Amino acid sequence: MADGPIQVDPATPTARFAVLASPIEGRGAFALRRFEAGDRIVQYDGERISKTESLRRCEGGNSFIFALDAEWDLDGDQPDNPARFFNHSCDPNCEARLDKGAIWLIARRNIRPGEELTFDYGYDLTEYRQHRCHCGGPGCCGFIVAEHLRDQLSHEESLTPPMATSRSRLGDKSPP
Ligand SMILES: [Zn+2]
Repeated sequence: MADGPIQVDPATPTARFAVLASPIEGRGAFALRRFEAGDRIVQYDGERISKTESLRRCEGGNSFIFALDAEWDLDGDQPDNPARFFNHSCDPNCEARLDKGAIWLIARRNIRPGEELTFDYGYDLTEYRQHRCHCGGPGCCGFIVAEHLRDQLSHEESLTPPMATSRSRLGDKSPP
């Protein structure tokens, strides 16, 4: 890979992951220490934006937007949000959880140092063909689509266009 290591700082006790060239796509986040299932790894930080602004940015190709609640979204495409390097996987070792208005990436199982950290981006079926998945996981469906929608892909020819237009991450989940 031509892309060299960046943001690696294992000397810092707080360093939890390094951003390195990823076999899945571009750069990814790799664990620098062990995580237990349930550990909070990093907050997915970003700019709070309205739904109108969110739609504008989604249409502009921004794929880092999470739905926070009925009113607000979060745009994680910010230089000070290293969590944006977490890649999607169909067999992820982390999950995104909304907690008191903040999004956390949390280990869903025990993770060894060196493992790439991934979560399910939770995209709906809108334009899913534009979002190919290269995770190589055992259950990879070939596209970045929320787990509960993947079985619909085998019936894609009979699919009607989904009503929802939002491609926001977590867009299909209600706030707690
Ligand atoms: Zn996949």
